[in-house]
Parts: sequence; structure tokens; C-alpha cells
Amino acid sequence: MYIKPSIAQLAPYVPGDQPPKSKSLIKLNANENAYPPSLVVEELLRTFDYANLRYYPDATSQSLRRAIADRHSCPQEHVFCGNGSDEIIAYLFQVCFEEQDSIATPYPTYTLYKTIADIHRIHTEYVPAQEDYSIDVEALVKTNAKGIFIANPNAQTGLLLGMDAIEKLLQAYQGLVVIDEAYIDFAPAHASAASLVDHYPNLVVLRTFSKSYSLCGIRVGYCLADRSLVMALDKCRDSYNVSTLSQAMAEAALKDQAYLLSTVQRVIATRERVSQALQLMGFSVLPSAANFLLCTPPHDQAKGMYEYLITHQVYVRYFNSPRLSDKLRISIGTDEEMDVLLSLLSKYIY
Ligand SMILES: *Cc1c(COP(=O)(O)O)cnc(C)c1O
Repeated sequence: MYIKPSIAQLAPYVPGDQPPKSKSLIKLNANENAYPPSLVVEELLRTFDYANLRYYPDATSQSLRRAIADRHSCPQEHVFCGNGSDEIIAYLFQVCFEEQDSIATPYPTYTLYKTIADIHRIHTEYVPAQEDYSIDVEALVKTNAKGIFIANPNAQTGLLLGMDAIEKLLQAYQGLVVIDEAYIDFAPAHASAASLVDHYPNLVVLRTFSKSYSLCGIRVGYCLADRSLVMALDKCRDSYNVSTLSQAMAEAALKDQAYLLSTVQRVIATRERVSQALQLMGFSVLPSAANFLLCTPPHDQAKGMYEYLITHQVYVRYFNSPRLSDKLRISIGTDEEMDVLLSLLSKYIY
């Protein structure tokens, strides 16, 4: 079968291992939420009239868009829903860039931006993070790329880029600015760029139900953007890109802000406790505003630890790539799961 050379030569996106689910397995490698989704979602599934599934979904996810607009106090015309925020990232490449254009993104960051850019034959310019892994905003602007992609908090590092830096970027740069806020609910209050969408038509803020709402499995994300961009995304999306059940579950989850808040607070409390414990064991740990920690074990033991943990059914993430290969990225699980992890790590060290 003929495959376009530009596709045949692609390096595929590598997600965290998805080992077969089992009770004894502790999965801390994909930044999934430690807690189940809201009971409002369970109730919806229990009472859902399955006969409705013979109809196509609402093509525009109207009701969900309205609920999201309410939540952000923004016009409904600023909201677009996708089959995961990953799908929206792919649409942005179709809508905003031509072949051979360039995007700029920090290194390290979420590797999917480059994977999708490669599919569309768009060049990715990686801008190295500073020594302390914080994002070099000035260098991103200086690339003169047609778009800048920033995960905030940043994937891999968990570091938060302050709002002042984001505003400075928007004032200095006219190209597309994508702020991917997959982890923003785990960050301190007022860290989101969502309210800036009104003022900067080149800004896209990406959100997902995957992480803080514990709904990776339903694949729903959304973006907030200028209405002209939302209209363009609507032209280019699959006609029924979000399933009926997914729309309904996302809307249900959105209603239960109290549950969101309580699970997020538990994750944050565990994150801070585990960060302290790791530092006492000699790890250095980046300050995280997300639901994971990027940490450097003492004596360059990252890879050995990663493999040792797997033999004990604990999966964390190891990246065999520059500036990450001496580190482990550990998603925050329940307190019980993290205690198992900590005791294995201390056994390995001592
Ligand atoms: C997990 C993650 C996503 C994926 O979101 P989906 O809505 O599940 O597609 C997007 N961006 C970043 C930075 C992530 O870590």
C-alpha cells in the first residue's frame, strides 16, 4: 500500500504504557486522576436512555458549549468542543498553518504538538527551557514562528508560567498563541489565561475534562478563542466530533464543581506531602502546579528505579530524552498508592 513518505517517516507519539488493569497495579504514568469522576456522572449513566443512541449526537455540542460559556462567563461563540483537547490541537494545525510554516514551543514540553506538526509538514522549533526548566518566553517570541504552543502548567515539568509573563508574550507577539491548560485546575487560583481571550484575538486557551474532572476515558476537551477562530474550527471538524454520551457526561461533570474542588484539593495535598518525602530521600523535585511531580533521584538512578518499580507493579514515567533522562515523572495517585511508591523507593535507595 502506498503511504505518503512524509507520514511513513513520522516518529509516532508515544503515550505512557497502558498495562492491563488489575487491582494490584499502581498506575502513575499518564497523569490520570487518582479519584473517580463525580457521582453526577454515574447517575447520568445509570439513567441514560440508551435508545437515544440511535440518533446522531448534537453536531455542535450546543448544550455543553453553553454550560462551558456559563462556567467561564464568556460568550458561547468563544467556545469550541473537541474529542479530547488533542483533537482541537490537530484542528488548530489545519486551520492556522500552511505546510512549511513554523511553530515554536519550549523544550521539554508535551510532545504531541510536534507529532501533529510533523503530520502537517509544519516545522517545530524547540526553544530550550532555562537552567531551572522555566520557559524562556523572550526566546519563544524571537523565533518569529507563526504560532507558539505553551502547556501551562507545563507537561513534564509541572512548572507554572505566571500571568504577567503570558500577558507580556501577548503584547509582544501577533501570531497564534496556544495556552494548553490541561492541568490548570491543580494550580493556584487566578493562573488561567481564560479571561484574556476577550482582549487578544490571537489567543487560544485549551482545557480538558481528562485530568481534573477524572474523565480521560470520555475524550472531551474544549477551547476558548475569538469567534472567528471558533467559526473556522467548526468548518474543519468532523461533523459529529463529540459523542452523545461524552457531551452529556462532560456537562454533568461541569455541574459538580464542589466535587472537582474537593478532589483537586486532595491531589494537591498529596502532591505536597510526596514532594517533601522525596526531598527527604535526596531527590530534587521541581515545584509542581499540576497533578504530577518531575523529580531527579540521587545518584542518577532514574532508569533503574523506573524498571524496579515496574517489577513491583508500579508504573511511573521515564523519558529517555535530553534533560529528562535522569528524572522520573510521577503522577499523583491516592495517599495509599503514594505510600506504596515511597516505601519501594526507600527500599531501592537504602
Ligand atoms: C493530558 C494532556 C492533554 C490531553 O488532553 P485530552 O483532552 O485528553 O486530549 C493535552 N495537553 C497536555 C499538556 C496534556 O498533558
